[in-house]
Amino acid sequence: MRPFANAETYRGVPGTRGWVVAPVRRLSDPAPQGRYILVAQDLTPTDTAALDLALVAGFCTADGGPTSHTVQVAHGLGIPAVVAAGTGILTLRPGTLCALDGDGGLLHAGLDGQDLQAATAHEREQDERDRLRREAALAAGPAPGGVTLSTTFVKPSQAAQLAHSGASGIGLLATELLFLGREADITDEAAHHRAYRDLAQTVGEAEITVRTLDIGGDKPVPALNLPKEDNSFLGVRGIRLALRRPDDLLIPQLRALYRVAAGGGRLRIMFPMVTTVEEFTRAAEIAEDVRARIRAPRVPLGVMVEVPACALAVDRFVAHVDFLSIGTNDLTQYLLAASRTNPALARDIDPLHVAVNRTVGHVTDTAHAAGVPVTACGGLAASPVGSAVLASLGISGLTVTLPAIPAVHEALTRLDHDARQAVRHEALTTGGTPHLTEHVTALLGL
Ligand code: PEP
Ligand code: MG
Repeated sequence: MRPFANAETYRGVPGTRGWVVAPVRRLSDPAPQGRYILVAQDLTPTDTAALDLALVAGFCTADGGPTSHTVQVAHGLGIPAVVAAGTGILTLRPGTLCALDGDGGLLHAGLDGQDLQAATAHEREQDERDRLRREAALAAGPAPGGVTLSTTFVKPSQAAQLAHSGASGIGLLATELLFLGREADITDEAAHHRAYRDLAQTVGEAEITVRTLDIGGDKPVPALNLPKEDNSFLGVRGIRLALRRPDDLLIPQLRALYRVAAGGGRLRIMFPMVTTVEEFTRAAEIAEDVRARIRAPRVPLGVMVEVPACALAVDRFVAHVDFLSIGTNDLTQYLLAASRTNPALARDIDPLHVAVNRTVGHVTDTAHAAGVPVTACGGLAASPVGSAVLASLGISGLTVTLPAIPAVHEALTRLDHDARQAVRHEALTTGGTPHLTEHVTALLGL
């Protein structure tokens, strides 16, 4: 895309891919007639999940980070997003016509005349390219290049799209998102049961990998009255919280899941933020106790590999788990010691850092030697370049947001044996997003 003649460009960091042209608006401004680009200091994951998709064409935040849960929610909803763009965006006059470039991490403000025409034409071209890719992905089936694609989504209403998405099933049901900002009680077995039963009915034969509640970090649940932590991402999050409160968090959720499995739902259960084998075996014992009481069938139990201790000691896990799923967002945050939500570090969070690639390679090599399947999820899996790197490092399945499937599908279809070897070599020796983007883009003609 040629630079614009008159528009002012605000440089942020890519959040969610896509290009949209619309006027900007802050939430405090009067409601406009049609669709708009939301500008805000920051958005919480709850705010983002509640956005009205009929009106919000995209968003740009002054703060935030590219692998934050806010961006994960935006990914899931397919809303183009730019983060960490600085406070200048907050001074834009409401109604200023802008182009939001989610791939480039840019907001072009004040479009008129030829600039506006060029931006709108680019939007149409992108839409058409996406449509063609979607059709190709659907026609080709859910395992391009031998990598199984599954999906993640944010709103239960999106589940109906699974059948037309080119994905084989749901690879990550982030259950806490079903409750964020809603009235339902997160400790209520009946509320959990309704959610999983309805979903299982909607997706039919497709498998659903359910992640138990990942509360904490930037996903607080006020009703639980959890103590405030200085550094919540290093605190009582995910399985740590579930094992401290089995009676009101873990057991009601597991009971609901096994009841759905007993009714014929095809489920797998995975635990987040696992650090030690003992955490997994304790959670698995509780699950087995719940299962036996309900007389439900066994379902595969696995862990998310997102804490470096788990990744480095993965040889100790493989004898116990049925599957592994690498959470690339958290693995990157914890390996690089860089918070997902700190805007000052937004440009330093590199999920293709050579250290992350080597850790992924170590996990896949160890898991394969033990015959344990290993998939990956998180923002990296949903980018064409990231998906090609992960597949080259031996990942056999990727969990991708619905809107990202066509572009990922295209990249994996082009990744033949020789390309895999070349990408693997570059990932494990040099790494880094700029280098790998250039290498993979040229190699696969993306
Ligand atoms: C991850 O950490 O990569 C992941 C998929 O989980 P979340 O982003 O929900 O923490
Ligand atoms: Mg995670």
